[in-house]
Amino acid sequence: MTSHLRVENLSKSFGSSRVLREVSFSVQPGRFLVLLGPSGSGKTTLLRCLAGIERADAGSIHLGDRLLAHGRTHLAPDRRDLAMVFQDYALWPHMSASANVGYALRRRRLAEREAHTRVDAVLDRVGLREHAAQYPHELSGGQQQRVALARALVAEPGLLLFDEPLSNLDADLRERLRVEISTLTRESGATVVYITHDQSEAFALADEIGVLEGGRLVQLGSPEDLYLRPSSPFVAQFTGLAGELTGHAAAASTDQGVSVRTGAGVVLAGSGDAVTAGTALRLLIRPAAVTLVDATELAAEAATGSLTGTVVDTAYRGRGYDHVLELPGGTQLTGVFDRLAHRRGTRVHVHLDPEGCFAFPEPHPSPLSAPAQSPEPVSTRI
Ligand code: ADP
Ligand code: MG
Repeated sequence: MTSHLRVENLSKSFGSSRVLREVSFSVQPGRFLVLLGPSGSGKTTLLRCLAGIERADAGSIHLGDRLLAHGRTHLAPDRRDLAMVFQDYALWPHMSASANVGYALRRRRLAEREAHTRVDAVLDRVGLREHAAQYPHELSGGQQQRVALARALVAEPGLLLFDEPLSNLDADLRERLRVEISTLTRESGATVVYITHDQSEAFALADEIGVLEGGRLVQLGSPEDLYLRPSSPFVAQFTGLAGELTGHAAAASTDQGVSVRTGAGVVLAGSGDAVTAGTALRLLIRPAAVTLVDATELAAEAATGSLTGTVVDTAYRGRGYDHVLELPGGTQLTGVFDRLAHRRGTRVHVHLDPEGCFAFPEPHPSPLSAPAQSPEPVSTRI
């Protein structure tokens, strides 16, 4: 049985509020898709529709050659060959760790010995061998989420669904469990759909990332695609910016991008929409595009193509320092990394790499404000 997931034109409303709008995507067997979006963008509703806990109003869901949902067809969650891990663990409080995990096998009518062997093996894999007999209230948050992960993995489902599984955990634990989810799900061979509002988590885990905005899938691609070619200011913002400037196109855009005249100087943006000279633009800047040079070291050089700013904050980050800069006109750039510390008040030259600068006409048409002219719903195979 293959676990190629195909979702077509999925829509869902609660009363008059449209929560999912014609969402289409597909995930190849064994691939890891992260759906990224702010709170309220419809992530949980989408995952619950995949799981069969929620019924979509329109659209279809296929897993392999099986139809899970379309029209009157609505397979129950336990007939979909999937397992889900929730933000709040959702363990049975009256069952031990091993009973929680074993519960997922009961329906399979495995011989008791075989079931025990599998439960022990999967608890071992998530590092909980010593805790098998303990109850959820005797376990830490991280351990409870490991039990939930083991419970999802034990029946070897074709599809694994994760709803913000790390958001209730401390930073250090979150990082470790993220690595375990990444390796264990990939070892299992299951297709994965993982939802989060945290862009660093999305980039760390995903083979492909889809961005949800107001119930619409507005971009779907590899992490590199999204980082280097965000399709809208919203996607750029949601995947990490140092800051933004406003300005005008100094000339019409070319294959190399567009020169943007801003209050802080002229900046070349490597990508964005095609524009004519004079178009009002928003210039969005990735942190990785910004490099610093001390102004005094550059005194003799004509610093063409670079801006001048003032360091307003410096924070030690282990391998170097993050800076906040203020540019002429008052715009701030945050998260500007340099191996060396530049002290508060220092004047610095700021070089901007066109690859990490995006220009969008202002105001950029939003898929929500202009539904009639919005592009076709994103439908991409991954
Ligand atoms: P996310 O997980 O991205 O935060 P949700 O899917 O939970 O988003 O919610 C999307 C929108 O749908 C929100 O505005 C939420 O209030 C609404 N919503 C979700 N579930 C229900 C429900 N059962 N009844 C009414 N509104 C709901
Ligand atoms: Mg949610």
